[in-house]
Amino acid sequence: MSKIAFIGLGNMGGPMAANLLKAGHRVTVFDLVPQSIQTLVEQGAQSATSAAQAVGDAEFVITMLPASKHVEALYLGDNGLLKHCPSSALIMDCSTIAADSARRVAQAAAERGLRMIDAPVSGGTGGAIAGTLTFIVGGKAEDLARARPLLEKMGKNIFHAGAAGAGQVAKIANNMLLGIAMAGTAEALALGVANGLDPKVLSEIIVKSSGCNWSIEKYNPWPGVMENVPAARGYAGGFGVNLMLKDLGLASEAAISTGSVIGLGELARNLFALHSSQGHGQLDFSSIVNLVKQEK
Ligand code: NAD
Repeated sequence: MSKIAFIGLGNMGGPMAANLLKAGHRVTVFDLVPQSIQTLVEQGAQSATSAAQAVGDAEFVITMLPASKHVEALYLGDNGLLKHCPSSALIMDCSTIAADSARRVAQAAAERGLRMIDAPVSGGTGGAIAGTLTFIVGGKAEDLARARPLLEKMGKNIFHAGAAGAGQVAKIANNMLLGIAMAGTAEALALGVANGLDPKVLSEIIVKSSGCNWSIEKYNPWPGVMENVPAARGYAGGFGVNLMLKDLGLASEAAISTGSVIGLGELARNLFALHSSQGHGQLDFSSIVNLVKQEK
């Protein structure tokens, strides 16, 4: 049994912490939303009244927060969490943030003698619940080796992308492709339906043809085609439009800093920005289909 502090109990962090509890670990939890703490306490977690209290005697500190600014605000600063983490603790930030932010926090941790890895995830809320996430790790191999037994309780595939920040670079490249693929899948389905096809039949055809991709096969955006996906429940839960927009913005920043060409990535970012500006930022990102769907 390991002593774990888990901070950030949202759509992803909640079920990830629950899997650590199921594996028999002692998990102390904190979130800004009291109800999220309560849900985990009902599953056996210890509650904390602040992030600083949660890390008390932790051997592992895991954070799952929305964006760079939340992670930097939590760890750095005058009374940042780095000042409260026990010196032997291994810090694992699983949030998707800018690689530069991840490197800044890892550097500040190293200056205090603390070990840290960036370990963003892929696999969505379904993967978080089932414990089948993919972890994409940046940091030292020996720190990943220490983290691995815990990561294996929350995920199925664990990759070492490289040094600090490398996990974030790989994650951002993946999510840019996901944003492009989801927008493209939405357009293909809307085109087919507008021209008289049944979305279920069209989906079956594409899944067995060269247009097949994760968005159509595992996370179909058209309502009524698949069960247990956000499209089946009015796009509630899942991976928010604003989170996808954040990741596409991170891809854009990374591309500017290296002079990389991401024409389709920028186009996808604009489509998600338009969708968000129309009041849909909190819906799952597969709701982008509503931007291109024709009203009957
Ligand atoms: P979420 O908004 O559901 O959860 C974030 C949680 O962090 C919230 O409960 C919020 O209250 C909490 N929080 C924010 N600041 C805090 C602080 N200072 N102290 C304590 N708690 C704080 O987001 P999510 O969907 O769980 O995503 C978390 C991260 O994982 C994001 O970086 C996202 O890009 C990434 N991600 C999400 C998915 C997905 O499908 N949702 C998939 C892969 C990666």
